Amino acid sequence: MLDDDNFVVHPKELIHFRHPSSKPSKKVLALDLDNTLIRRREDSSGKAGLPDDKEDFELYNPRVKEVLKDYAEKGYALVVMSNQGGIKTAMGGITSFVVRGVCANVGKALGDDVALNFILATAAPDKAGKYRKPQPGMWRAFVELINDGVEPDLADCLYVGDAAGRPQDIIASKINDGDKQFAEAVGIAFKTPEEVFGVPGKGKEENQAMGNAFMELANLHAEKTESDKKFFKAKALRVAGGKIKMLEKVVRSVEDVDGVKGIGKMSKELVAEFLETGGLAEIEKINSGEYERERKERAENDEKEISKAAQVRCRCWWRVLFLSEGCCRVCVCVPPSRRRSLVVVFFLRCILQVGQAFL
Ligand SMILES: [Mg+2]
Repeated sequence: MLDDDNFVVHPKELIHFRHPSSKPSKKVLALDLDNTLIRRREDSSGKAGLPDDKEDFELYNPRVKEVLKDYAEKGYALVVMSNQGGIKTAMGGITSFVVRGVCANVGKALGDDVALNFILATAAPDKAGKYRKPQPGMWRAFVELINDGVEPDLADCLYVGDAAGRPQDIIASKINDGDKQFAEAVGIAFKTPEEVFGVPGKGKEENQAMGNAFMELANLHAEKTESDKKFFKAKALRVAGGKIKMLEKVVRSVEDVDGVKGIGKMSKELVAEFLETGGLAEIEKINSGEYERERKERAENDEKEISKAAQVRCRCWWRVLFLSEGCCRVCVCVPPSRRRSLVVVFFLRCILQVGQAFL
């Protein structure tokens, strides 16, 4: 049975655990941890992301155990290869123990039939190091520390991860394909958790179509629209879609999603639309190009408004300067390049007039 203390720490960049029943193999199933093998349970703050407590996770879906057992029976060595940059150099710190505790509990949840090994790259994201994905260092470490130096047959190996470069794989406003790149760097096949384990979480079958429509719209926004906020919109839609798919009650009215964290005003309007029409009109709008045309029209109109406002401001300025509507009209007609000379002439004339008045 896994225990927190069975992890071997290699300061400053690596932590590994070798399951007592694990045997060297030429076939390897390697997996990412967060949002691939496990997902975080929703906490009181509604954050989605890495666990911050060793109990704060659930398996990606109920099929995980069965799928891993299947691979183990076919002779695959099983190993989690995960970037855990939050540990940084504090290998014995709280975060390190939480992450190791999560891994230990994942092992317990999978049971003794699944001899799951772990390799964690602990360098911070800004100090990539040789072990952090997409660098292939964790693979080499696995071969040496866990597989007794037996070189796997790469054609028989697979890496499963959620950072696959899909429009929905967004971290810090950027599409993340670190897991896919890692598999390419090692030279093995790559699959997403959906391909290996199926739909994440439990959720009600009846809500899947609505959740999928949200996901499709998120992808279309990220892929086909040009708005500055497209990644925020895509992320909001993806979070809402995920929540809808995971709900344990069937959504029959907007009230059913009331109070669900991650489903805001925009998403509620879309839920209402889906319940009424069975689809989301925005999907068709984006696919037909109408959405982009409307966006461009809006942008052009905004630009016109801004330029009108600027013109009004300019006129006011000239009006103040020349103290007469007539002069202002004349000045607005003068090309901007000549206006400075006109101002100089005007001031000289004023000074002259004031001078004459006193002489
Ligand atoms: Mg992940």
